[in-house]
Amino acid sequence: MKLDITENYPLSSITTFRCGGPADRLVTVGSREELLAAMELPRPMILGNGSNVLFSDRGYRGTIIKFGPALSRISVRGCVLRAGAGASFSYAAKKACAKGLSGMEFATGIPGSVGGAVYMNAGAYDGSTADCLAEVKSVPQLEEFGLSYRHSAFMDKGAVILEAAFRLKKAPQEEIDAKVADLTARRKAKQPLQYPSAGSFFKRPEGHFAGKLIEDAGLKGESVGGAQVSELHAGFIINRGGATSSDVLGLMKLVQDTVMDKFGVRLEPEVRIIEE
Ligand SMILES: Cc1cc2nc3c(=O)[nH]c(=O)nc-3n(C[C@H](O)[C@H](O)[C@H](O)COP(=O)(O)OP(=O)(O)OC[C@H]3O[C@@H](n4cnc5c(N)ncnc54)[C@H](O)[C@@H]3O)c2cc1C
Repeated sequence: MKLDITENYPLSSITTFRCGGPADRLVTVGSREELLAAMELPRPMILGNGSNVLFSDRGYRGTIIKFGPALSRISVRGCVLRAGAGASFSYAAKKACAKGLSGMEFATGIPGSVGGAVYMNAGAYDGSTADCLAEVKSVPQLEEFGLSYRHSAFMDKGAVILEAAFRLKKAPQEEIDAKVADLTARRKAKQPLQYPSAGSFFKRPEGHFAGKLIEDAGLKGESVGGAQVSELHAGFIINRGGATSSDVLGLMKLVQDTVMDKFGVRLEPEVRIIEE
């Protein structure tokens, strides 16, 4: 089997933070067989849309695996939407909404892949992947999804998600459209979408909101190199231009230490920090 391999691939070009050095190799797979073959290469790691990861400035000594078009198809039958892991989660959600199916409105602004959304149990406002996920094909096949806040059994077991099915409900089109419009407007008003980032950098600590703690600690606008705590939403670390991964990590530490000193709360990154 001949795999589609590119060597020395710049990770900054396939991550939404737009930083990180090169991966030894990037393999784009189009079938389960190709995935299994790629998993035999050194240090395989699956990358979805790169919207919740931070790679090192030195890059990644190993194999980054991405899903090609054949593993990114979306179909809708009755109230079930089925999508390959490489499909865009927001595009899949918009497709469901356009067919008068409710349940994925929350996902229309989440810039990840379907595989990444299942792996992270992505969620926003009042919805989450856990609420509508019906079926997952994975390697190895898991019977339990184990979904909790930004957590899944796929994470614990190192399983690769190949396909997911979401169970939705018929609803009046105007209701669906109004909900999507409302969520989109809230995102646009509150999130620094014009800058590269990985969304909310920290997980929500029990009983608090990360953004509020960071703002109350006086850290809005604080920066290290090209990385900055967003002025608009303190839960976001943004790349103001030319930020390195070390800048982002330096700022992360500054925020964690300051919030710990002031409020005794430990902020844990939601973003997956990947060792070289
Ligand atoms: C502007 C912005 C807004 C955001 N808003 C939200 C939000 O509202 N809610 C939210 O939850 N998140 C949000 N995010 C974060 C991010 O979009 C989600 O976490 C998303 O689910 C990540 O998907 P991805 O495909 O980009 O994953 P990646 O970043 O590519 O990968 C994340 C992790 O998932 C693993 N992974 C990816 N695909 C697979 C697979 N097929 N099988 C096994 N493991 C896999 C990777 O190995 C990695 O560990 C936002 C990000 C940005 C930039």
